[in-house]
Amino acid sequence: MKVVIIGASHGGLHAALTLKKLNPQTEVILIEKRNEVSFVSSGIILRMNQLVDELDKVRYLTSEELDKKGIDVLLNATVTTIHPDKKTIIYEDIHKNTREVSYEKLILATGSNQFSTNLTLPSKDKVTVFKSYPSSVEVLKKLEKAKSISIVGGGYIGVELCDALKGKGKEIHLIESADSVLFRYLGKELSELIEQKIRDSGVKLHLNESVIGFSNIDEETFITKTTNEEIRNDYVIVAVNARPDTTLVKEFLDLNANGTVRVNEHMQTSDPDIFALGDVISYPVRNSYRKSFIPLVNNVVRSATVAAMNVLGHPMKYNMTQKTTATKIFNSYVASTGLTEVEAKFEGIEVESTFLTLPCQLPFLELQEEVHIKMVFEKGSHKLIGGQLMSEKDITQSINTLSLAIDKETTLEELVTMDFYFNPGINQPMGIISRAAYEFLIEKYKV
Ligand SMILES: Cc1cc2nc3c(=O)[nH]c(=O)nc-3n(C[C@H](O)[C@H](O)[C@H](O)COP(=O)(O)OP(=O)(O)OC[C@H]3O[C@@H](n4cnc5c(N)ncnc54)[C@H](O)[C@@H]3O)c2cc1C
Repeated sequence: MKVVIIGASHGGLHAALTLKKLNPQTEVILIEKRNEVSFVSSGIILRMNQLVDELDKVRYLTSEELDKKGIDVLLNATVTTIHPDKKTIIYEDIHKNTREVSYEKLILATGSNQFSTNLTLPSKDKVTVFKSYPSSVEVLKKLEKAKSISIVGGGYIGVELCDALKGKGKEIHLIESADSVLFRYLGKELSELIEQKIRDSGVKLHLNESVIGFSNIDEETFITKTTNEEIRNDYVIVAVNARPDTTLVKEFLDLNANGTVRVNEHMQTSDPDIFALGDVISYPVRNSYRKSFIPLVNNVVRSATVAAMNVLGHPMKYNMTQKTTATKIFNSYVASTGLTEVEAKFEGIEVESTFLTLPCQLPFLELQEEVHIKMVFEKGSHKLIGGQLMSEKDITQSINTLSLAIDKETTLEELVTMDFYFNPGINQPMGIISRAAYEFLIEKYKV
């Protein structure tokens, strides 16, 4: 079997490795327009938080390691055309030579691009997005020099950037058009706690404000105009939603209304010999009627496994996503899974929820930590449909427990009676999840 994969980021790499693990005889050609592979997009944050000493280290594989595994990696190779009728692709190499490669199966892993706007920008080098290694190097350099920076978008990337930039003697503005940060993942209770931390750190938070334009003052400085204010900046970072990159296939493959490539549960497109995965497709969301564009690596690697299995004739279906996420910001771990109350309403699901702040340890221990926990249940069935956690303690594994609970349609009563460990040196007799469920159960039934 000869498989060509376009795009060597998380998705393309995982599919290539899986194909080789399943059958080392598979001929795998991985084509990438950049000159490097496997850079992790949030590398900038890791570098600024001094978790790594060099940005270039934030990758988990090199093209040499892929070569050793028998994967044929073509770097600086931009695919320009796909001929599905002939089952060939055309790419341009670094010397602008045009080359043709045939395939038996093709995997599209072209991912997503950030930032498209109709706004007139102050000048290209003053407004940046970052995802790839070269763009991250550039942004890091500019951030060092900049004195007044606006970050557009209060999602994970924007808030993580604020955290990494705080206390560095810069004026930082975070501009979010919604009425809270991280609104796609968190309810008001946790968002408000984070917003307070953002403000306490000295970052100027602009909620309910949209950027409407920029105007130059001089070579260095410009005005970022929002719906409420005019901010004097020398740098802007755009951290808004990415869009799927379907340039190569939009003329001949079926697309969804949101612009992603339409795939079945086997990651197969409308052309049975072309599979798609990662950020270029939409995902079925548990408790939602729609498939959605959810650019998260946890979706990318799972869809890549499913695509590789099916390419080699092993039928496997993609499950669902709960869009499970976790981060560490302002000295707290924040994690989320499933639907927020607002999303549930949008899906027509009647919900009830609980929000509690609970101690983690028994009171006799010196170390005392607390967890903020929110759980959203479907009214009537008591099925868990969403969960959110925040703590200075690393509670991130518990979000995976909540994700599993949502996936398995676990009820409030089952969460109370589920078997979780107790150790007096670590936790309380009821773990955080069962305790929060237990308190909610008592609240509901007490007379
Ligand atoms: C700043 C930032 C931080 C993030 N942090 C997280 C995080 O903490 N956790 C998380 O789960 N997700 C995170 N994400 C999202 C995550 O990065 C994406 O979900 C993931 O990169 C998508 O992987 P992919 O392989 O589908 O596509 P991409 O990573 O978009 O890669 C697509 C690849 O295809 C190549 N390509 C495209 N067109 C062609 C062509 N014509 N010819 C050859 N090659 C081509 C591109 O050069 C690129 O290398 C973050 C995103 C950003 C921008």
